[in-house]
Amino acid sequence: MTADPATTYAAAPGAEYAETASQAYRAALQVIESVEPRIAAATRKELADQRDSLKLIASENYASPAVLLTMGSWLSDKYAEGTIGHRFYAGCQNVDTVETVAAEHARELFGAPYAYAQPHSGIDANLVAFWAILATRVEAPELAALGVKHVNDLSEADWETLRNKLGNQRLLGMSLDAGGHLTHGFRPNISGKMFHQRSYGTDPETGLLDYDALADAAREFKPLILIGGYSAYPRRVNFAKLREIADEVGATLMVDMAHFAGLVAGKVFTGDEDPVPHAHVTTTTTHKSLRGPRGGLVLAQPEYADAVDKGCPMVLGGPLSHVMAAKAVALAEARQPAFQSYAQRVADNAKALADGFLKRGARLVTGGTDNHIVLLDVTSFGLTGRQAESALLDSGVVTNRNSIPADPNGAWYTSGIRFGTPALTTRGFGAEEFDRVAELVVEVLTNTEPSSTGSGGISKAKYKLADGTADRVHAAAAELLNANPLYPGLTL
Ligand code: PLP
Repeated sequence: MTADPATTYAAAPGAEYAETASQAYRAALQVIESVEPRIAAATRKELADQRDSLKLIASENYASPAVLLTMGSWLSDKYAEGTIGHRFYAGCQNVDTVETVAAEHARELFGAPYAYAQPHSGIDANLVAFWAILATRVEAPELAALGVKHVNDLSEADWETLRNKLGNQRLLGMSLDAGGHLTHGFRPNISGKMFHQRSYGTDPETGLLDYDALADAAREFKPLILIGGYSAYPRRVNFAKLREIADEVGATLMVDMAHFAGLVAGKVFTGDEDPVPHAHVTTTTTHKSLRGPRGGLVLAQPEYADAVDKGCPMVLGGPLSHVMAAKAVALAEARQPAFQSYAQRVADNAKALADGFLKRGARLVTGGTDNHIVLLDVTSFGLTGRQAESALLDSGVVTNRNSIPADPNGAWYTSGIRFGTPALTTRGFGAEEFDRVAELVVEVLTNTEPSSTGSGGISKAKYKLADGTADRVHAAAAELLNANPLYPGLTL
């Protein structure tokens, strides 16, 4: 099968400038080389490595040369704390333009009443959202009872009274082993310290989200925030149902669509599966399926907009103006019809990958996928996630290990490998190529066995890959990669 040009840079805006982009990179690397050659070398090597490996990490992608080039400018040099038109620094007129354009594209693309383009990353976007929800929700009636109008007018003593009075900083989010994210209230993240957290999980039989159990948990726990979204759940979510549950218990619905924002932008997830019209606050990263620069965004309903706007300097440092500019470019790309073809192909390819695994006898969490993620249970190969991840990497297949529900190997060694299709779809891979990827992965895993610990036990980390497997798979992967080059026409 040949690559569908509509999904690759062959059709993306700016692709006709491949030679111009090549010249720009050559010049940039020459300038960098004159100051610190090791950085120029590492930058060149990273492109070579990315070109030569099967990148199946579900949270990664390849941003377009237009997006990447946008980040390398003097916009980086400007401080611009505050909001559009209200900065703590003088001379921010161009940053105002950049942020206005980024927010405008985000509003238009996602149909959101309000968009905030400043968050430096997904975690930062979630922090902004948490603050905004707390600030908005405590305004009434608790503030009235204290005789103040706005949360910013509270004294230290008032804050203390308020925290004691509120008694509800409860957050209900998806459990980590069902696919939730650390920022959804878990200990290694500040959200686990700010909030009393409880989790909802998935049905032990089907692995699917159990909405009735979720509703029961919400009724009992009465969270201030019900958080939807995931990092490793391979299925779509009905956000209309989540909103109904939130409304019933008086919670704010926050959806973290960091992983699947590209499928929302590309209109693969619509209606009940589009979180933006249902959530009070939606957060996202811009660098995963959305295919932009590393960064975050917050989208909000009007009642949360004022508080979201205080993200900087409340929880964020000065905006990264060069990255906001690149977000604007990426969002403009995502508004092109070609992005919808890309997003649909990401989902179709995930199905092809899942089918490729299933027909070769592998076990998948939930039995398949209907988004961009496939979660393979590697215990059926007698391996831990750690062993499988390493054996695949030795063979040129880049993935990450991941917990599965009720994981017998815990969160470090894990029992799963998470696969994602956004990056290789950008290279032009289609269903046939993803079936071949499944075949190669199964070949690696069936040729890998755990090693002994040396004291008679079986190691969870050490493994032995049968001789010749890595070379064979590397060669087969190279064929697929050469037929679908990364950044075609770009030469350093
Ligand atoms: N939210 C979700 C659902 C994620 O999967 C991730 C990253 O993996 C994040 C937030 C954090 O994003 P970042 O690494 O940009 O802070």
